Amino acid sequence: MLLLVDLDGVVYRGTEAVEDVAAVLATREKAGDDVVYITNSSTAYRTEFVKRLSALGAPVAFDRVVSSARATALYLATLSPTVRRVLALGTDGLRRELEDVGLEVVMAGDAAERRRVDSLDAVEAAGHPHAVVVGLDRGLTYDGLAIVSEVVRAGVPFIATNRDCVFPGERCLWPGAGALVAAVEAASGVTPISIGKPAPYLLEEAARVVGRSASEALVIGDSLTSDLPAARSVGAGFILMLTGVTSRSEYDALGPDERPDEVASNARELASLLEVASSAGRV
Ligand SMILES: [Mg+2]
Repeated sequence: MLLLVDLDGVVYRGTEAVEDVAAVLATREKAGDDVVYITNSSTAYRTEFVKRLSALGAPVAFDRVVSSARATALYLATLSPTVRRVLALGTDGLRRELEDVGLEVVMAGDAAERRRVDSLDAVEAAGHPHAVVVGLDRGLTYDGLAIVSEVVRAGVPFIATNRDCVFPGERCLWPGAGALVAAVEAASGVTPISIGKPAPYLLEEAARVVGRSASEALVIGDSLTSDLPAARSVGAGFILMLTGVTSRSEYDALGPDERPDEVASNARELASLLEVASSAGRV
C-alpha cells in the first residue's frame, strides 16, 4: 500500500510523539508498504524531519519526506528547462530544497539589497526569475515583500508553498506562510498556484517519489480542512486520526458527505484499519 502520512497531529503533536504511531508505520513498512510523509511546513530542510522521525522509531529516508518546500521544488523541477531561476521569500530550508532540484535561487532579501544599492528595477535585481516562490519567512522585511510583489505584478508566475494562515505555537497562533502569501496577493493582484494541502500538488509529488499515483494512496491525516480535501482532490482514500486538530465531537457532527472514509482514535485502531485494507487487497 502507499501511505501518505501527515506529521503534526498524526506522528507527533508539537514536541510529543503520538503514542505508538511510529511503531505501526514501522510494521507496515516491514510488510512492504511505501510510507511517505507529507507536511505543509515550508521552513525546514528534510534532514530535520528525518532526524525527528528516526528518533521516534518511524521508518524514514531522506526522500520519503515531502514538505510543502520540497513539493514546491519537485513541482518546479517538472517545469524545467522553462523554469531555471526563482526568486524566493522564505527560509534557508526552502532555499536548500529549491537548490537541490537544480534551481538557481535568489532570496528576496538579497534582491531587495541589490535593488537598493545598484538602483536596479525589481525584475533585474531579482536576476530575471522564471518564477516567484513564497513560503514562511520569520526574517521578513518590507523591502523583501515589496520586491516579490513587484516581480509578481510584472507577470512572473507566482507559486505559494501553502496557504495556511496560522500555525500553533506554545501560547499563541503565529502567522503562517499563507499570511505572507496573502500580502503578496493583495499587493500584486495575482492569485498564486498553491502547492500545499488542501491543493493536490503536494500529494501528487509525494506519490511520485515512490513512482506511484496519488489516486492509489491512503492518506492518514488529522485535518478536515487540509488533509481530507487534498485526499479527495486526488481520489485517494483517507483515514482521519483523532489525535490532532479534530475532536471526536467535531467528527460526530459531520454530515454524511463530509465524513472521511475511516476514522481512528489511536495507533491501535489505525493498525487494524490498515490491516483490513491490506487484507482486502489494497496495494
Ligand atoms: Mg496535521
